[in-house]
Amino acid sequence: MEDQYDQTQVSLKLLNTATRKKETLQPIQGNHVRMYTCGPTVYDYAHIGNFRTYVFEDLLRRTIKFLGFEITQVMNITDVDDKTIKGAINKDVSLEEYVKPYKDAFFEDLDSLHIERAEKYPAATEYVQEMVDMIQDLMNKGFAYQGADKSIYFSIQKFPNYGCLSHLKLDELKTGASERVASDEYDKDNVADFVLWKAYDEDRDGKIYWDSPYGKGRPGWHLECSAMAMKMLGETIDIHCGGVDNMFPHHENEIAQSEACSGKKFSNMWLHSEHLIVDGKKMSKSLGNFYTLRSLLEKGYTGKQVRYLLLQTHYKTQLNFTLEGLEAAKHSLQRLDDFVLRMLNINTGSDTGEVGSILSQAIKSFAVSLADDLNISPALAAIYDMIREVNILCDDGKVGINDAQRVIDVMKKFDSIIDVISFEKVSEHVPNEVQQALERRIEARKNKDWAAADQLRDFIHDQGFVIEDTPSGAVVKKAGV
Ligand code: AMP
Ligand code: ZN
Repeated sequence: MEDQYDQTQVSLKLLNTATRKKETLQPIQGNHVRMYTCGPTVYDYAHIGNFRTYVFEDLLRRTIKFLGFEITQVMNITDVDDKTIKGAINKDVSLEEYVKPYKDAFFEDLDSLHIERAEKYPAATEYVQEMVDMIQDLMNKGFAYQGADKSIYFSIQKFPNYGCLSHLKLDELKTGASERVASDEYDKDNVADFVLWKAYDEDRDGKIYWDSPYGKGRPGWHLECSAMAMKMLGETIDIHCGGVDNMFPHHENEIAQSEACSGKKFSNMWLHSEHLIVDGKKMSKSLGNFYTLRSLLEKGYTGKQVRYLLLQTHYKTQLNFTLEGLEAAKHSLQRLDDFVLRMLNINTGSDTGEVGSILSQAIKSFAVSLADDLNISPALAAIYDMIREVNILCDDGKVGINDAQRVIDVMKKFDSIIDVISFEKVSEHVPNEVQQALERRIEARKNKDWAAADQLRDFIHDQGFVIEDTPSGAVVKKAGV
């Protein structure tokens, strides 16, 4: 059929931070892309700034698959660093106990945001031996040394390519370039050297340490990613991603350690997404200008609405977060859902086949736009143009049941990437906030929180709905229908 445009013939071009050029993705192993994405430090709940990066990586992952590749994606979970250790000590629990709720919350949030699961989520504490082995290798090859404080450092002077990603020169590097560097400062030969193994300090680390040939301690943050990426994906990978703040020093250090060990290029492509900002400043825990996904769900927004907000701006453009922006995302989703509903409800109109050329044009434009460094705006515009044209045909009675099914199939194809559309007929009368209020009321009743349950019932009534008990549980129906 005409609407079967073959998007796997389109080549995927991505902006490689290392070369500052758009390059065609050509996996090292046939059709199989191996991608490493820096994951969360699970010392607290992630904020939606973090999730902007993960949503970008999800868009990349899905586009890679849409264009006919296979993928193995690895995302690390940093479960040991200064913050997790401090948290565990303050609460007087083990590191594992301390990080568990945040780790669980992270996966719940991924699901709420419809972020597809990576193939592997290695936790740093499970790969300490691999990290120790890597340090040994770096020591043997003369790239690492033990400082006066017993910590092991990487000597960046020994790695002439240092700065190749961020295009910095060695003599421009200063101490305190980031919080992470600052917290890793010890007695080292050169201020810009970074820690590979952080020597144990009883006052700071309590009982949390690992044994190694260099004494008790724990691995440095940068080393975690190198060791796990190489262990799981091989010495040279196709794509490595993260937020733009990860580029220096984190990714620069990853390159230095990995390439010093293997003597090979660490990653063929580097992709960095721009930040989610609030009033011109990066959304971050330290500035306190952050929203967690949970806080937005509590306000009645859905994961899909937040996903759409994070998705709709190109990853290389900063995205200014506002609640008005989220409201606009909500309305855009309503438009998509309303259109699908119109297609699902078609029972008059003739099958003229006129939708065919509209659909194939839309798929082509969608695929070509995404293949151009994930150019999301024209990709979304292709969907809205298609909706407008199909609506006109519909108004003229030129879309029958079969045509409508073809339109729905194409919308599902788009949704395999954007994953925000509802294809359920039931969504026709029940807005998301009412459905959510119902679910929260069921929960409140379970917990015998009658006051909250009554409040939620009143909210549902105010929205023009009533609650009905059915054999399969409580449902909401439009009042007076
Ligand atoms: P962290 O837990 O701080 O290591 O951050 C995890 C991921 O979130 C990294 O890839 C960061 O680059 C990214 N990130 C942190 N803050 C923001 C933000 N405001 N906007 C976009 N990405 C962010
Ligand atoms: Zn990393």
